[in-house]
Amino acid sequence: MELDQFILSLFFIGLAIVLIAALIGFTTNRWQNFRRSKRQIRCRICSHRYMDHKKDKISECPNCQAKNKR
Ligand SMILES: [Zn+2]
Repeated sequence: MELDQFILSLFFIGLAIVLIAALIGFTTNRWQNFRRSKRQIRCRICSHRYMDHKKDKISECPNCQAKNKR
């Protein structure tokens, strides 16, 4: 293998690694956003957005104490 071929293949391997890392980062970010949006609840009374970590079907708004369905 010639030196410039080696450098070229090294470049493409590096490029592939960067692309894979970017893809993994992007997918993880999307997945976290998806999970967050499932936990996030928008209050039907005051439109306040809040996170609900409990698994109850009805959660209470921390802003106005209204009961919200998931
Ligand atoms: Zn509310």
